[in-house]
Amino acid sequence: MTKQNQLFDTTPEPWRLDDQDDWLAARVVFSQAPYGPYDYQVPSNLEQQVRAGVRLTVPLGRGNRARQAYCIDVIGPFHPLASTVNPQRLKPLTSVLDEQPILDESLLELAKWISDYYVCPLGNVIETVVPTGIREGSGTREMLFLALADGLAEQLADLKLSPKQRAILETLAAGGSDWTPRELADTVGCTQGPITALRKKGWITSSSRRVRQLSHEIPKEKKEQDLDLNKDQQQALDSIEAVIEQSEYRSFLMHGITGSGKTEVYIRAIQKIVEYGRQAIVLVPEISLTPQTRQRFRARFERVAVLHSHLTAAQRAWHWNEIANGNVQVIIGARSAIFAPTPNLGLIVLDEEHDGSFKQDKAPRYHAREVAVWRAKRAKIPMILGSATPALESWNRASTGEFDLLSLPRRVLDLPLPDVATIDLRVDFGNRKSRGAISQKLRQEIRSSLNQGGQVILLLNRRGFATRIQCPACGHVEYCPDCSIPMTHHRDGSKAVCHYCDYQISEPQFCTECGYAAIRLAGMGTQKLEQEVQAIFPDVPCMRMDTDTMRKPGSHELALSEFREGKIKILLGTQMIAKGLDFPNVTLVGVINADTALHFPDFRASERTFGLVTQVAGRSGRGPKGGRVLVQTFSPDNPAIMAATKHDYLGFAAGEIPNREAFGYPPFGLLARVVIRSESQERAKQMGEHITAAIQQAADELQTEIVVLGPAPAPVEKLRGKHRFHILIRSAIDSPLQPVIRRASAMVQAADEVQWIVDVDPIDML
Ligand code: ADP
Ligand code: ZN
Repeated sequence: MTKQNQLFDTTPEPWRLDDQDDWLAARVVFSQAPYGPYDYQVPSNLEQQVRAGVRLTVPLGRGNRARQAYCIDVIGPFHPLASTVNPQRLKPLTSVLDEQPILDESLLELAKWISDYYVCPLGNVIETVVPTGIREGSGTREMLFLALADGLAEQLADLKLSPKQRAILETLAAGGSDWTPRELADTVGCTQGPITALRKKGWITSSSRRVRQLSHEIPKEKKEQDLDLNKDQQQALDSIEAVIEQSEYRSFLMHGITGSGKTEVYIRAIQKIVEYGRQAIVLVPEISLTPQTRQRFRARFERVAVLHSHLTAAQRAWHWNEIANGNVQVIIGARSAIFAPTPNLGLIVLDEEHDGSFKQDKAPRYHAREVAVWRAKRAKIPMILGSATPALESWNRASTGEFDLLSLPRRVLDLPLPDVATIDLRVDFGNRKSRGAISQKLRQEIRSSLNQGGQVILLLNRRGFATRIQCPACGHVEYCPDCSIPMTHHRDGSKAVCHYCDYQISEPQFCTECGYAAIRLAGMGTQKLEQEVQAIFPDVPCMRMDTDTMRKPGSHELALSEFREGKIKILLGTQMIAKGLDFPNVTLVGVINADTALHFPDFRASERTFGLVTQVAGRSGRGPKGGRVLVQTFSPDNPAIMAATKHDYLGFAAGEIPNREAFGYPPFGLLARVVIRSESQERAKQMGEHITAAIQQAADELQTEIVVLGPAPAPVEKLRGKHRFHILIRSAIDSPLQPVIRRASAMVQAADEVQWIVDVDPIDML
């Protein structure tokens, strides 16, 4: 168990200035508790080797146990941090482990910012920034290299040697470095015997070094020519190029509908910075890292690195080194690729910038968009955020002028957007006999699409929890009056609970809107849907795609290529199928229940629903046959669903922004979330109350105005056998919460078998 009250202990001890002193201190952090930072004295013989970014061995605690540490600063009497060191009381560090820093100055600074902003120990952050493979030297091998002893070359003629020995030493003297014993023996034509004898005499010296082994280069693609940009694309590119020329920071929010040609604009902007000898980082959601994406970039750039979660430690380390050595022009990767050690970064692109996967769900809980902004500012370079459905946070930043807005409002080649119609499930519920997921109308449309040789995508985004209180007859959903969040039905005890503020009512027996009895709505998952589809269309090849069926690496790609080839006619699944796929033969997209995400106890529920329906609708009608979209819903009048059927992002944003503002949710307020878990419900709750009190007290002491909601049971009340409670902390946009959290953390005593975490700017509210 880590002692949580030490997590954020960065307060150094006071120091008496003794200005005659000549001293040097290394400030270090550990990757595990106690995290530090701590200061160590740098012995004079190590002064040259100790640098920020190298690893050290240092003695820790009373027993002086040897621990590996990261050096984060080297501080002398004239350093700005000098007054925070107490040089008289330092233990000397033991040894230096790296010749070169494993992270350079700018990445180290970035790590410090992440540690500060996301309230996470720096040692933890460093282990996220630097891949394991680099830290452990994966894909490298310890090798022995031989050289002639110093000064021996001049005496060579006077030495008494056998002919073989002479040949060996002369070969070494003739130069060329890095002889391995094997190469030397092969060149001279001898065994290892005489070489070993010379090493024993001290005439040959040896040193060992780690060398890298395999190459993991991305295979070449057929070179593709640039496309002729349309007017909107050209305008967007011109704006970006102007900033590239000026070497300054600027973020562009490129709002382009699905299929409007955003990727082509990224590629052209990257070409520009590559001409200047700089590198680009392109971040995409993990799910979009398909061979299609990779090929598209590889066909336009010579040297591309692709970073994804299925790489081995050795592969990742190989790419990291290639990038650091300046051998890569474009890095494409998921979230963590934002840490690529580019020597001369020129552009950052975030495609599908609204995607939730850019936020890491374990410590450090960073958001790649914010990290990207930090890097772009520091490197004085432009950044492009692209999306058909930008996060409202980003949209707001474009409204305030912090980001520049670029618009691609048309599909390339003027392909029309597909027609979207809704099917009102309330009406359907009244009319039909069976209680399946597919309405009569949708069934007919599927059949007619298949008859005309088209393919069909069916979306059901059901993650198997959250029984909301919704009336199947009229669609009415019970909301908390204080938080504007749907109430959640509890299986045990018949009550409805708000999962933000813990407001409770007993489970309504009748719909408060229309009086219909039997108000609970049972869930339906993708598996059940698959059965239903197979029952209705027994001869049509169909595939289900969700996290359960797509566990194995590569299975996602395989499934998509079978769909592309037409072997599969109906593809059904969760949001996995909604993102970025380009299949011209898809003529029908059916959304089984648009409301699944709409009534999550999450203030972003509308935004998610709008985004998901819009994204999946964009999969239809990408070819000459055109296409349709059918959206089944209990809430056809809901603004998010209505806007999605009209592909109307602007209308959606205009309606939703005032809601956020009214309740002080982001982007109009700051938010942090504390999640507490324990096998004991009682202890988790108690800890929740302690933390809430500590937060209140810390806020009072710091005179920061905050609102604390909770502790309330988290929407996912029990996860892997642990009970979960959460606390939401809100403040005005100009009152940072981090100082409050740090202070509160220091006050909270660790308790047995209770863990808690802090999430700054949370995305996951479950
Ligand atoms: P987005 O990223 O906005 O969804 P893409 O960049 O993937 O759109 O473009 C969609 C399709 O249109 C791709 O097949 C792409 O090759 C093609 N495309 C993009 N720009 C042009 C253009 N200017 N002329 C012709 N085709 C284009
Ligand atoms: Zn509430």
